[in-house]
Amino acid sequence: MVSQKKISFDIKVYDSLSELSSGDQNLMSVAVKARKRAYAPYSSFNVGASVLLENGEIIEGNNQENASYPSGLCAERVAVFYAGSKYPGMKIKAIAITAASLNHEVNEPAAPCGNCRQAISEYEFRQQEPIKILLMGETGSVIECNSLADLLPLGFNSSFLN
Ligand SMILES: [Zn+2]
Repeated sequence: MVSQKKISFDIKVYDSLSELSSGDQNLMSVAVKARKRAYAPYSSFNVGASVLLENGEIIEGNNQENASYPSGLCAERVAVFYAGSKYPGMKIKAIAITAASLNHEVNEPAAPCGNCRQAISEYEFRQQEPIKILLMGETGSVIECNSLADLLPLGFNSSFLN
């Protein structure tokens, strides 16, 4: 017997950054500053990420590319790994991500790659509390996701290893 199931999730779409709460605007503004310090000489695609921790501190990261391409790392993982190394076990409340290109205007929200979704899901599963995800390009609308798990349905986590 086959049963069919539907997986869906809700997002909020804001027309512009100014419609977000002041806290979320601030979190995104930190990501924008981090984005401008990205090291992306090969793709010219600059990404910034900011991580809001339970203690109120914001940790930032940006993409760090490498002449040996796979040796580089995305902004999201730079940020969450830094947060995890500085404050082991500290819960993550939200992550803001913004992308801009030197070659064209990114006017739609840029989403994290599959590797970063998996990396962030490790922290969300560990803390057993959802992490809010805010996505923005350089300009335009902002997407708010309630949980990383929404972006990685049927995800793999440590429960399968036990
Ligand atoms: Zn990534």
